[in-house]
Amino acid sequence: MESLKIKKVSIEAVNIKLEAPFTIAIGTKYNIENAFIRIELENGVEGFGEAAPLEPINGENQATALATLHACKDFLTGKRVSDYRSISRHLKTVFWAQVTARCAIEMALLDAFTKSLDLPLYKFLGGSEKRIETDYTVDIVPPPVARKNAAILAGKGYRMLKTKVGKNISEDIDRLLAIREGAPDCGITLDANQGFSPPEAVHFLEELEVNKLRPLLFEQPVVKYDLAGMKFVKDHTSVPVGADETVFTSADAVNVVRSGCADVINIKLMKSGIIEALDIAAMARSANINLMIGCMLETRLALSCAVHFAAGLGGFSFIDLDPHLNPDDDPFGGGPAFTDPVYVLSDDQAGIGVFRK
Ligand SMILES: [Mg+2]
Repeated sequence: MESLKIKKVSIEAVNIKLEAPFTIAIGTKYNIENAFIRIELENGVEGFGEAAPLEPINGENQATALATLHACKDFLTGKRVSDYRSISRHLKTVFWAQVTARCAIEMALLDAFTKSLDLPLYKFLGGSEKRIETDYTVDIVPPPVARKNAAILAGKGYRMLKTKVGKNISEDIDRLLAIREGAPDCGITLDANQGFSPPEAVHFLEELEVNKLRPLLFEQPVVKYDLAGMKFVKDHTSVPVGADETVFTSADAVNVVRSGCADVINIKLMKSGIIEALDIAAMARSANINLMIGCMLETRLALSCAVHFAAGLGGFSFIDLDPHLNPDDDPFGGGPAFTDPVYVLSDDQAGIGVFRK
């Protein structure tokens, strides 16, 4: 067991230019600005972890994530990776608000631990599935571009397309009609990112119905704290309603279950960390709430970890893990093999299976 002790911890900032700018409520991101941790065990095994902070979502940025990781360095050195739950619990009591940094540490611990066991992470998590099919997001672009992009994606084999809504109802509907025209056989999921009031959300769904559009999921229609508002939306539609920003912790998941405000919970490792995500998944499952998995602006490292998570647990109804980076620009290689739109898990790769290029 001595061999499972952490000998060395190193931390690194990574900035990578995005192929396509990523627009969020406070502005546009042109770069991935993440933080990485690498731990090395006495047995020589390395574990990698990534923090993908985004202020409006998890309240962190690259500087705070790096500062947190540096602050944890001494605490981690000498600990056994097999004690990942106790390490995670300790860190949560201190750095409760720094979830992406904690997620990076959990990722590195689990990567190193499962590598030491010579087991792929998804097997360690239960080995439910070997194949994970993702959707792809059609950006907020003019209808002709959306039509063309949707047709290209359908041609590549995507069967589920996601798009953001909630800024302008008629523009949203025009874009959705264009997506359907371009990819008539694809399912469509919508993400409002808290953009509607409860009555607006219901009105929007009515307008979709007039246009014979039926999404497979309506994610986060209203502001994250408004569980009653989300319940109002759910009570006025048969379209499944998803909670994303509403659920960061297992306590949030309890509130969703108690209020009956959502049909689906979107798990993102960067919202809850990996250990707490296991609790959220268990709670959703017990309450007949479907599972979704999503991601932030992540490199192949964190994205591969999410693929292992979903494949290990199994039963995710919605997979939103489309890569943001061209493989050539990615600082990590390896991991589950990806051919649009499917990730295939390999039994030959221990841990998360990625390597630093
Ligand atoms: Mg979302």
